[in-house]
Amino acid sequence: MVRVRFAPSPTGSLHIGNALSATANRRFADEHEGVMLLRIDDTDAERSAPGGEQAILDDLRWLGLVWDEGPLRQSDRHVRHREAAHLIGEPDADGAIRFGRTTLLRADGTATYQLASAVDDLDFGVTHVIRGSDHRANEELQASLIAALGGEPPAYVHHGLLLGDEGKLSKRDGASSLADLREQGFPAEAVRAYLDELGLPRHDVRFDLARLRRLSIEALAALSDEELAGRVGLPVSAVPAMRGARDLREAREYAEQVLEPVAAPVDAPETLTRFRELVEGGLDGRSIVRELKAVGADLKAVRLALTGRERGPQLAAVIQSLSRDELLSRLDRCGSTAP
Ligand code: GLU
Repeated sequence: MVRVRFAPSPTGSLHIGNALSATANRRFADEHEGVMLLRIDDTDAERSAPGGEQAILDDLRWLGLVWDEGPLRQSDRHVRHREAAHLIGEPDADGAIRFGRTTLLRADGTATYQLASAVDDLDFGVTHVIRGSDHRANEELQASLIAALGGEPPAYVHHGLLLGDEGKLSKRDGASSLADLREQGFPAEAVRAYLDELGLPRHDVRFDLARLRRLSIEALAALSDEELAGRVGLPVSAVPAMRGARDLREAREYAEQVLEPVAAPVDAPETLTRFRELVEGGLDGRSIVRELKAVGADLKAVRLALTGRERGPQLAAVIQSLSRDELLSRLDRCGSTAP
């Protein structure tokens, strides 16, 4: 039976590279009808932030990544860690317990990452450790700790890291955590699809924001009107205006343009008069725009009259998002149709 674990440190919202490990573990477990354990590596105070664990659970749920067991907190296992350290390690003059040159237990009795990770991988029957290649250097030691405890070390699989322009992916590259991506309006499906596409890279890969943007457009297109409105948190009536948006943040901006117009002076009486006639004639958004273009009307003025903005969703979509009465009252409000 395949058993894998995803073992983040509770530092806060997942780094995209860690999310890649999580996705790869889930996929491996699924492919082998195995089990994925979620373990929180919280024995290192420096790598634990308040709310860090909750942020990770939220991230995983957002991505639609389920775990089968856990979350298991390493700090809850301190009795077993101490016992294991005493079994295989030697006390040092300063009170720490060491295995060769590696500290297993600190002088204050807390377990180090190396010890806790090895003991928990052993005790929880982990068969495959799948993680980033920044942990490759830990493989030998962790395998020998497990062997010293009388266990069979798991298979270790290290995948390439996600890099930015200057090495490790950082905020300077536009995004480094799932929270960054969420805030920028990328739908979870696009992020998940991007991570799935990367799979288990053998070598380091450059984070491809352009690819993610492409996947975001595809993911939005695949959402039903109700789903899209729900994600954005605005009514379905505004969906036509949201449709040309490339991400959820832009979709919200677009929808707000039709839902919350701002007043702007518009000086194009002929265009607006023609527009009013077309609206009164009951034409749909596209036909109205086609008719306006045919007479060389000032389309910018129409947009400005309806939304108060110079840019935004396609004009036909703006028109389509508004009822006839609302279109007419916005025209009245900007008050510049010819008498
Ligand atoms: N807790 C480690 C980290 O967040 C991962 C440990 C492991 O996978 O062995 O980088």
